[in-house]
Amino acid sequence: MGGDREVVSPAATLGSLTGRLHGGDLWPSDGHWVHARDAAEFSVDAEYVGIFNPAGDGGVVVLNAQARKVLRCFDTPATLPDIRAGLPLPSAEVDAVVNRLQQAGVIHPPGQPPRPSFRESTMLTAWLHVSNACNLRCSYCYVHKSAAGMDERTGRASVDAVLDAAAIHGFTAVKLKYAGGEASLNSALVLILDGYARERAAELGLDLHATLLSNGVALPKLFTQALAAAGVRIMVSLDGIGAAHDAQRPTIAGKPSFRSVARTVTRLLDEGWVTPDSRVVRDGLESIDPARGFVRENRFSRTE
Ligand code: SF4
Repeated sequence: MGGDREVVSPAATLGSLTGRLHGGDLWPSDGHWVHARDAAEFSVDAEYVGIFNPAGDGGVVVLNAQARKVLRCFDTPATLPDIRAGLPLPSAEVDAVVNRLQQAGVIHPPGQPPRPSFRESTMLTAWLHVSNACNLRCSYCYVHKSAAGMDERTGRASVDAVLDAAAIHGFTAVKLKYAGGEASLNSALVLILDGYARERAAELGLDLHATLLSNGVALPKLFTQALAAAGVRIMVSLDGIGAAHDAQRPTIAGKPSFRSVARTVTRLLDEGWVTPDSRVVRDGLESIDPARGFVRENRFSRTE
């Protein structure tokens, strides 16, 4: 659940009435604006909805009921004075919400939808599919699993290709993500490739960041200690707590996996060798809050 999230409410004070279009023009405060056709709305809980326009670059905004009423006013083209006059809210609060909706690309002048724009990146990220095997059978998995794993020659050539491309194209850093399948099932190769990548990065003057993506079912202690010593981060996938996770992430034998993952996470934290990230995958509203609670209780470094 990546991306920034900001809560918009009429109580917020968010600045001026004019903003900058993606092309750099300023919008007049008395011009017409309309709700972006491509903006997707999803329920967060009983009080809030999230809005995201994939064509914009403003990330996700979260609206309370009053801010949502402001947005609804733009279902047909409307001006800011129209909105102020039509809602029983202080003008300054309406202005603040409109300003933020505009910044997020959720409303735009009729006929001028935001165009996607991307910041220039200095880091080249590559996923290395080191194992096609996995000890889980997640319901949504797209990997056609087999016993195959990446061999060392292919792995070194892949590292060379990524790092050389980064240097040639002016990147200053590379991030390698060791993935699968379950990447830890090819742990020896992960450590070999990480060592090789660090040598090559030093030669080329590149910063190297690395993360092991794991389902967390079985991460041997010696392996995680070696990763910690090398500076490789670990990301453990969690699809909710207990039954919510188990419903989507059964083992090959169809058994629950949550207890194993929780045990692994607790061990990693207790050892203090690594600081894992947790990506909470939303499969329904009931999964989010307990999962966030789990993250807090277990002192994860970050939620996404
Ligand atoms: S852990 Fe990943 S690779 Fe394994 S079954 Fe689940 S989604 Fe697929």
